Amino acid sequence: MERTTAEGYPPSVCDSSELILGFVNTRPSGNGRVESLSDRDGLVRWLTGAGLAADDPGVSYADAVAAQELRGALETILRAHAGCVDDVTSVPAAEAYLRRVAERYPLTPRLSADGCTFVPAQTGVPGAFGALFAAAADLAARGAWSRLKVCKNPSCLAGFFDKTRNSSGLYCGAACGSQMSMRAYRSRLRTG
Ligand SMILES: [Zn+2]
Repeated sequence: MERTTAEGYPPSVCDSSELILGFVNTRPSGNGRVESLSDRDGLVRWLTGAGLAADDPGVSYADAVAAQELRGALETILRAHAGCVDDVTSVPAAEAYLRRVAERYPLTPRLSADGCTFVPAQTGVPGAFGALFAAAADLAARGAWSRLKVCKNPSCLAGFFDKTRNSSGLYCGAACGSQMSMRAYRSRLRTG
């Protein structure tokens, strides 16, 4: 998370966005993605892929459950960024959850002449979860946090980085966009 670069245009994906999107996209979807955090081994695979704490021998099933909960809350925030929250209570609930668990995964500020970054204060799985909070803080500091979204196609729901100039992207890619406009077109035909 050692980046201090100010966000330029075009906005670009970075280690921080990759980390969070990779984590959110461990969830299953109608597009064929399967649940990747169902057990301890799944969590170890994600940790390894993300270059985090994979060698922590203490990784447990409870950690995988905690990871799924954390992922659910982050996903709700990313849905809110895309303006697709069905239940108005879900965002405050996710925010309250994130406030609560953030206390378990503290960060340490690392100050330099160039700026300030946050690094996890712990190692192992708590450090890995802390790295997700550090990544979110990094994106927020660079004005890019709201660009992390969940695709509005209900059969996809993939996390993606919105690179549109005015942050108006709703779909993870052209395929989902055209699938949804085709669906809307057909429903307009049906309703006459
Ligand atoms: Zn999509």
